[in-house]
Amino acid sequence: MSPYQSLINLSTKLGCKVLINEPLKKYTSFKIGGPADLIVYVNNEKNLIEILTHIYEYEIPFFTFGNGSNLLVSDEGYRGVIICLDGDLKCIRKENDTLITCGAGAPLGKACVFAMKNELSGLEFAWGIPGTCGGALFMNAGAYGKDISNVIFKANHVTPDGKTCTLRQDDMNLSYRKSLYSDNPFIITSISISLDKGIYEDIKLNMRQIVLKRKNKQPLEYPSAGSIFKRPVGGYYAGELIENCNLKGTAIGRAMVSTKHSGFIINTGNATAEDVSNLIKLIKEKVYNKTGIMLECEIKTLGNISI
Ligand SMILES: Cc1cc2nc3c(=O)[nH]c(=O)nc-3n(C[C@H](O)[C@H](O)[C@H](O)COP(=O)(O)OP(=O)(O)OC[C@H]3O[C@@H](n4cnc5c(N)ncnc54)[C@H](O)[C@@H]3O)c2cc1C
Repeated sequence: MSPYQSLINLSTKLGCKVLINEPLKKYTSFKIGGPADLIVYVNNEKNLIEILTHIYEYEIPFFTFGNGSNLLVSDEGYRGVIICLDGDLKCIRKENDTLITCGAGAPLGKACVFAMKNELSGLEFAWGIPGTCGGALFMNAGAYGKDISNVIFKANHVTPDGKTCTLRQDDMNLSYRKSLYSDNPFIITSISISLDKGIYEDIKLNMRQIVLKRKNKQPLEYPSAGSIFKRPVGGYYAGELIENCNLKGTAIGRAMVSTKHSGFIINTGNATAEDVSNLIKLIKEKVYNKTGIMLECEIKTLGNISI
């Protein structure tokens, strides 16, 4: 029996949904990406360990997917297994007066609403970031002057050979859009967030204001992966540098520099990963030639694609 077939059998036996040859464009916010050999929806930590042990034993390539909101997936897709966190790995619970624990597969937005309903303040900045809790920690996602490092208390992960581990904030090497997880093939299974007691109406108002700012500034009506580039050092903004190079509205194929926010590349309809990759390279070149600043991508890639 092939390693894939035995993985399908094992996953099915454990009650984990499996999809074969599924186009990843259905699962990315860019709406781009070819098929993955397998997608496995893992429903709890015990089954994750069993599945990972199998993957490790047979040396099958794997990749952990969050909400696919910071990913450019190649047009050829991915030869390996996509792990999606499901079931118990999406649950959110209150630990004590100010600490909540979120399954890494839980949408970050759900964590924001949970915090608001429990009158816990501190996570409002994350309202509107369309990732999962695991993806947010991996990226140290942030907005409006705050990021996950400001609220994370601890997190659990599983190593590729199936060992569980807990890390405290201090051990996570959190910096601008980077964490220890970005450099290691760990699967984050849950994150615990430490918040302050707040007032429901204040938190709600804050979240509403944040979402309005996003709607005004970001091209949310088009598929995208958010800001393509990191903020360069020296107080510059990638969007501003791109705009100063007259690249607003520049398109390759169906990938276009947004006219609303030059830091976003939008998919105007059936864009390919290659369109996006070529547009990123063009932007980098033009910005470098004009300013001497080499932009660095914030988005991650999967499959055979260079940016
Ligand atoms: C419209 C829009 C607005 C955005 N605004 C912001 C913003 O304001 N601030 C910001 O920081 N980002 C923003 N983003 C980018 C994106 O939402 C964040 O980076 C988010 O944290 C990614 O989470 P995800 O679950 O979608 O991760 P994915 O895109 O699925 O994955 C990103 C990386 O995280 C890894 N990963 C995901 N889950 C796990 C896990 N459980 N364990 C280990 N690794 C994992 C993946 O392997 C991958 O390498 C925006 C995106 C869009 C489309």
